[in-house]
Amino acid sequence: MNDRERTSPRFWTRLAQAFALRPLVLATALCGLCDAGIAQQASPPPADASVTLFQNVRVFDGKNGALSGPSHVLVRGNKIETISAQPIAVDRRADTRIIEGGGRTLMPGLIDAHWHAMLIRGTPAQLLGDVGYSNLVAGDEATDTLMRGFTTVRDVGGPVFGLKRAIDEGIVKGPRIYPSGAMITVTSGHGDFRQLTELPRTIGGMLSRMEQVGGSMVADSPDEVRVRAREQLMQGASQIKLTAGGGVSSPFSPIDVTTFTEPELRAAVEAAENWGTYVAAHAFTPAAIQRAIAAGVKCIEHGFLMDEATARLIAEKGIWLSLQPLPEELRLGFREGTVERAKAEEVWPGIARTYQFAKKYKIKTAWGTDVLFSRALAQRQGAILASLIRWYTPAEALVMATSTNAELLALSGPRNPYPGKLGVVEPGAFADLLLVDGNPLENLALVADPAKSFVVIMKDGAIYKNTLPK
Ligand SMILES: [Zn+2]
Repeated sequence: MNDRERTSPRFWTRLAQAFALRPLVLATALCGLCDAGIAQQASPPPADASVTLFQNVRVFDGKNGALSGPSHVLVRGNKIETISAQPIAVDRRADTRIIEGGGRTLMPGLIDAHWHAMLIRGTPAQLLGDVGYSNLVAGDEATDTLMRGFTTVRDVGGPVFGLKRAIDEGIVKGPRIYPSGAMITVTSGHGDFRQLTELPRTIGGMLSRMEQVGGSMVADSPDEVRVRAREQLMQGASQIKLTAGGGVSSPFSPIDVTTFTEPELRAAVEAAENWGTYVAAHAFTPAAIQRAIAAGVKCIEHGFLMDEATARLIAEKGIWLSLQPLPEELRLGFREGTVERAKAEEVWPGIARTYQFAKKYKIKTAWGTDVLFSRALAQRQGAILASLIRWYTPAEALVMATSTNAELLALSGPRNPYPGKLGVVEPGAFADLLLVDGNPLENLALVADPAKSFVVIMKDGAIYKNTLPK
C-alpha cells in the first residue's frame, strides 16, 4: 500500500468498516456459544422484581393432605417469598399485583411425568413430515397444556428441544419441559416405527426419517447406544429414555419381548451417570423390568405386566415406578382387529393390579398420562389425573402430581434445566401456582375441569390466566 492509498478517504472508510465489523464478528462467535449454552441448560428469562400478593387463600402445599388456614402468599420475581397467616404489607407500586383469593385454594402447578409434547396432535406419519409444521402444532398444544394447569412436564420421547427452548425464551406459552429427546430403541423394539420396506439397516448407514427428525433412534449394540444417548445429552436431555421391552403402539414389537441386552442398557446408564443423570426405561414384563434394574435403570415406565416378586424388587431397590391410569378411550382408540388393539387388551387389565402393587409395597410412584396422537385425549389430561380416585384419596393423588413428581424430576441432578424447588408451595420455591375455585382435596374432579376450576394460572411468577373479576 502506498501513501496515496493510505491517505485516500476510501482507505479510512474501509478501515473503519473493518473495526466496526470486529465486534460484530466477536458477538457472533459468542452468540454461537450462548446458543449452545441455551440448548444444554436453558435459563428462564431473567426474573423481574414484579410482586404478586395472593390475599386470603387456603394453601395446599403439595405435601400435606390438609389445607392451611386463611393465608397470604407473596411472590417476588419468579419465586415464592413469604407465606403468612398475617396480612403482608406491600408497596402499592404500579407493577404490584394484588389477587383477592376470597378463600379459594392456592396449590402448586401440576406436573405430568410421562408426556410427549411433540406427539400429541397428528398421526405418526404427519410427525415424520414437515418439521416446522410439527413444531408449530406442538407449540399450540403446549399452550393448551399450560392452560390446563400443567406447569411442568417430563417429556419421555420426541424431538422437543426446540419447543422447550422457545417456551423458556418466552416465545411460546407452555410448561417447563424436562426433555429426553429421541427415545432409544432396538431394531423392531417399541419406538421403531419403520416399515419393513426400510430394512435392512447398515450400522453407520443412512438414518431413517424417524431418526432424522429425532423422534426415536435405533441402536443395536452397546457402542451405538452410547452414541445415541450422548447425542441426546449434547442436545440438552435432562434424562435418557430407553425402551427395554415391547410396546402397544408400535407394530413390530410384541409385548412379551425383552429388547436391549444388559450390556446395551448398561451403556446408556453409564453415559447418563457420567453426566450426573439417569435412565428411564419403558418396560412391561418382569423380565424386561428386572434386566433394566440390573443394568442400573432408575425409573421404570408403565410396568403393567409385572408380578409380585418384581414389585417387591422395585420397592427394595428404591426404583421409581412411573405409572399412568391409561383411560379406556386410549384402548378403544386402537382399531379392532389390529395387532395394537390385541396388545392393548393384554396390557389394560394390568393397570389396576400394578397400582395395587405400588400401594402395597409403598413404591415411589410418579403419575403421568402418556397421551399419544389425540388432541381430544390431551384435553382430558386433568380428568386422567382425577381418575386416580379409583386407588387414591384426592390428597394422595395431588401430592403425587406435584411434590412427588418433582422429586423424580430432580433425579436429573446437574442436568436439571430448572434447578430449584418445584411442586410445592413454600418460601423459595418457583412460583408455579394455581388458584382453584373450590377445594380439590375434597373434590378431585375440580382438576378435570381446568377451564372453570383454575381461575389463576401462574408459571415462573408470570400470570397466564386470571378470570377473577377485576
Ligand atoms: Zn410414552
